[in-house]
Amino acid sequence: MRDGQARTRSELAAITGLARSTVALRIDALMKLGLLRPVNDAISTGGRPSTQFALNVTGHSVLGVDVGASHVRVALTDLAGTVIDERSELIDIARGPVVVLEHVMTMGSELLAQSGEAADGTNAGGAGGPAALIAVGVGLPGPVEHASGRPINPPIMPGWDRYDVGGALGRHFGVPVLVDNDVNIMALGERELAWSGVDDLMFVKVATGIGAGVISGGVLQRGAQGTAGDLGHVYVSRGADVFCRCGNRGCLEALASGAAISRALGIETTSSGDIVALVRQGDIEAIQAVRQAGRDLGEVLTTCVSLMNPSTIVIGGALAAAGEFLIAGVREAIYTRATPFATQHLDITQSRIGANAAIAGASVMAIQFALSPERVDAMVAALPD
Ligand SMILES: [Zn+2]
Repeated sequence: MRDGQARTRSELAAITGLARSTVALRIDALMKLGLLRPVNDAISTGGRPSTQFALNVTGHSVLGVDVGASHVRVALTDLAGTVIDERSELIDIARGPVVVLEHVMTMGSELLAQSGEAADGTNAGGAGGPAALIAVGVGLPGPVEHASGRPINPPIMPGWDRYDVGGALGRHFGVPVLVDNDVNIMALGERELAWSGVDDLMFVKVATGIGAGVISGGVLQRGAQGTAGDLGHVYVSRGADVFCRCGNRGCLEALASGAAISRALGIETTSSGDIVALVRQGDIEAIQAVRQAGRDLGEVLTTCVSLMNPSTIVIGGALAAAGEFLIAGVREAIYTRATPFATQHLDITQSRIGANAAIAGASVMAIQFALSPERVDAMVAALPD
């Protein structure tokens, strides 16, 4: 029912191949849980009108949390991912998990209080009350072990290594908490909001760091340890003499990240936004540097195209705002090097939802988990007889 379309019991029986009585029992249970709602009667030809049912998107809510290097955003959304309300604050992630997560808890509790929901999640899973909180999704700017919800050796997050982010927020909100790295959730958000029909999509974030979220066969690929798509330290031949902060030489990040472009231009800048501003002013050197960064990125992505055969590569992150100059470099490298068959229908394009991708993806991750067959089965099983 997650596609939002309303259906009758008979239609659901036909689609699922289940007995009509089984479907009727399940619908009753899902109505009690507040997950389905009846909608205006279908117009029938003669006879009794048959009731249709649809996903009750406003019956439950999730919190999407986007923790960046220097900001925190928290959004309360319904089960369609529509933002009901949101808060954001500037806070340095280096202040550590206790301080930063306290801000997340306060912002989340405020959002819930304003929507009329209990902050401890006591209402979650029940049919009563407005928009019962059902799950929380969190994106962090570093590697995350998704199964445990813990960051692993995150380079820009001192004090966060193996901190139980999911546990801390779970105790506060009283619902399951899903944690992933920011690039993975941006891939989820971008696909959900802008590319819903695309099953093989790579989302590449180019900013202070470089990374990719890989969706293959419609499913986000995290890999064995959650580091799938970690492209920042892949070798690029042009950079043989360039040192990277990781200790190696020739890393993509040491050549094509915002910081690397600033170094190449000999300017002191603190954000990718400064480079984008130069490009927009028509600064030739900046334009050439951004285009070269695009070629370096394209060199690495060419291998990804051969491996994954995506139909769409979306370039996002702060540097993506440099627009066509960055993308043109990426295209130049990929279309020159990849096989024509792999690039025949390959779309390489700028992010459509920009800065909102992370918050949308965090919500989508929470919704996908909360509405998974296993979770819904557990909620049905927990219903009183
Ligand atoms: Zn490196």
